Amino acid sequence: TYVITQPCVDVKDLACVEECPVDCIYEGNRMLYIQPDECVDCGACEPVCPVEAIYYEDDVPADQAQFYDANVKFFDTI
Ligand code: SF4
Repeated sequence: TYVITQPCVDVKDLACVEECPVDCIYEGNRMLYIQPDECVDCGACEPVCPVEAIYYEDDVPADQAQFYDANVKFFDTI
């Protein structure tokens, strides 16, 4: 899955939502989240993010690793 990280917080540009072919990007209070079970790893969202917040799961920088968990937790609670 792809993961949205820190730069999205309080930005929520929504360009990625337009781009996602399976509509798996959801809006939270302060950022957007990618539903890991629905994401088809197409990569379309990554280049359109104006703040470069989106990474493939294996490429998430170490200091952003908590966003992978935050993502999972978000979908556990809705
Ligand atoms: Fe959607 Fe593709 Fe981005 Fe996954 S990688 S969130 S399917 S646009």
